[in-house]
Amino acid sequence: MTSAPILAPPRRVLVPAHVDPTPPPLGGAVHELAGRTMGTTWRVRLVSGARLAREPVVAAIQGELDAVVAEMSTWEPGSDLCRFNAAPAQSWHALPARFFEVLEAALGVAHASAGAFDPTAGALVDAWGFGPTAGTRQPPDAATLAQALRRRGWERLALDGPARRALQPGGLALDFSAIAKGYGVDRVATRLHALGFASHLVEVGGELRGTGIKPDGQPWWVQLEHPEPALAPADTLLALHGLSVATSGDYRRWYEHDGARLSHTIDPRDGLPIRHGVASVSVIHAQCMLADAWSTALGVLGAGQGLALANRLGLAALFVVRRDGGFEDVASAAFEALLQ
Ligand code: AMP
Ligand code: MG
Repeated sequence: MTSAPILAPPRRVLVPAHVDPTPPPLGGAVHELAGRTMGTTWRVRLVSGARLAREPVVAAIQGELDAVVAEMSTWEPGSDLCRFNAAPAQSWHALPARFFEVLEAALGVAHASAGAFDPTAGALVDAWGFGPTAGTRQPPDAATLAQALRRRGWERLALDGPARRALQPGGLALDFSAIAKGYGVDRVATRLHALGFASHLVEVGGELRGTGIKPDGQPWWVQLEHPEPALAPADTLLALHGLSVATSGDYRRWYEHDGARLSHTIDPRDGLPIRHGVASVSVIHAQCMLADAWSTALGVLGAGQGLALANRLGLAALFVVRRDGGFEDVASAAFEALLQ
């Protein structure tokens, strides 16, 4: 029997075009903090003196994330989002500033993706068994699907910017699950900066944002998520220096039905789980909120339309496509431009 040589996978390295010239903090140490939020975990690495009073920093981080959950969770019946979803037709609602910021960004991505991203997909997400009201994971019957389709529609959501209000046209179910984790990451990063931590790496459920450099002069290096790392054509390392990365994938939450893989990413235009073979999409962006929303949007559009749109908008995106039992990478021009 001959044994094949074990080769380390090749590496791809991505670095940002702009590097902050501020020198690394002298005598600093890297501290790790962690906790739970949004049904998943958060992790922060930050540079500070050798001794760090951890409790107030953990409390500040947890406070930012708890505020996002209290306003925008589909899973907390008392959240502002759930109250909006349950409100009567034609009622106007004053919204908290953060909620409004996320809603405006979500509608921007919905518009730019022609509805592939839709923050009003809540009823569809529920119908396919991925929402909070789901009992068993079962595809909906035709009548339930038709009703859920009628309930979506970001175009029906009227905003009153100056008064920070939104109109519930009736039956519209907001779902911010494709954008809120990224937004939480941004809030934590902003808070850490305000607390005087110029160098930090923030992660919520796999979405990441890195700022500054470490005491050893290196940026925060992270490895891009892959659906099956053993089958990746290369390890992709990314210097998160003033950048965020988010990954959306059919391997994160799904179930099998009649031999088909049903993903938690739904195409809001026909109401069906995505099925064009894109296993994951990673997007690199300055704002984690937008990396998060765009990774979902491009996952819905697929490697054809999605790549064309990413190139038109200058988005750095990597599609991992299932092909012949393996995976193939498809990268946008802005992603290629980050490669060393
Ligand atoms: P992500 O992991 O960021 O791709 O977010 C996936 C979650 O977003 C799902 O579990 C749903 O709650 C929600 N979702 C599914 N499809 C869409 C879509 N087309 N637009 C916006 N949100 C979606
Ligand atoms: Mg997302």
